Amino acid sequence: MRARILSISLACWLVTAWAPAQTLQQLQQRLNIGKAAPAAPASRGTDVQLVEKPWEQITDQQLFEHGKIALGQTPSKWRHAETEHFVIHYHKRIDAQKVARQAEFYYEQVKKDLMADKDRFDRKSHIFLFEKEAEWQQFVADAKFMEWSAGVSYRSELYFLSRQGGGDFAAGTLAHEMTHCIFYRFVPKRIPMWLNEGFAEFESGNAYAKFKGIGGGNRGSGRGGAAGYPLQKLLAATEYPKERDDVREFYRTSERLVRFLITKLDHNRFVPLVMKIAEGASLESALLEIHADKFKTFDEFVKRYEKS
Ligand SMILES: [Zn+2]
Repeated sequence: MRARILSISLACWLVTAWAPAQTLQQLQQRLNIGKAAPAAPASRGTDVQLVEKPWEQITDQQLFEHGKIALGQTPSKWRHAETEHFVIHYHKRIDAQKVARQAEFYYEQVKKDLMADKDRFDRKSHIFLFEKEAEWQQFVADAKFMEWSAGVSYRSELYFLSRQGGGDFAAGTLAHEMTHCIFYRFVPKRIPMWLNEGFAEFESGNAYAKFKGIGGGNRGSGRGGAAGYPLQKLLAATEYPKERDDVREFYRTSERLVRFLITKLDHNRFVPLVMKIAEGASLESALLEIHADKFKTFDEFVKRYEKS
């Protein structure tokens, strides 16, 4: 039980309730964008250099416990490549190429949104792209993840099943999980679930839209729902809700709260606020300290948030 609790703020199991956008139009509808901006420049992400190497020549071979399980005893069963910030383990190059482009693009976007000069992690993030269902199920069992998972992020690592094995990833989910492993590079500490999931959800709309060249910014979550999960329950949560509708509301409301903190308060103060919370402060005490000029009580904050 202890291991499960410890893992909560570090890991995210991809939730099956998420309905990924498969086409640009679906994404636009999901993000409530009336008209598409001009198409993305052809160069977006295409300049990412993906260099394939034998495992022995990969420059950063440090793995967390699940990464070691994924790599297994025979690293040669995977193909390996690396970019500036990521090591990608894969079977089909098209998968690796697609993920590498998105990973480096999201890296820059998250860095920008966190207004960070450099990350706090001197290792590369490892991404494992499974191709075969049976191989994935074995890994999920060995790593003791939820058996229904289709993708998991843990600390700075990401493990993902590409069901088609042809670069056909569910874009929103990949962006969400990738954001978790990138966020960890900038804030390598345990943070509450609402903050971890809320930021990943915010970027899964924001960064992916920018990657596709259709705007971004204040777009909101791609999930449906009213974002009406009770705030105190959200802030206190240490495990995911049991019911599917509650799960959706939990993610949706987490994103609404994070989006409010980033876009409606002072963007410059988001990371200082996150760091206070990562050191153990509640949202209430961190907020009243960091935004002392705006709010005298937490109720004042709640009222303004609820009107947003
Ligand atoms: Zn997540």
